[in-house]
Amino acid sequence: MINSEQTIPCPVCKTKIPFDTNQLLQGMQFVCPNCQAAIGLAEESKPLVKETMQKFEELKSNMSKEQ
Ligand SMILES: [Zn+2]
Repeated sequence: MINSEQTIPCPVCKTKIPFDTNQLLQGMQFVCPNCQAAIGLAEESKPLVKETMQKFEELKSNMSKEQ
């Protein structure tokens, strides 16, 4: 198992897309398993990743409370 793997809600269909933070930072794109939408990081967006990831963590924390 890859400990760094996380999921992000698909912007199109909300399916959880598994992704690896390090691979995302390296420019890898990830495809939604449901609708095939591709998510990835634009070069100019990389400085925003740390802030974005913090928001993701907050989202994940909120979502996990549903269980
Ligand atoms: Zn999708």
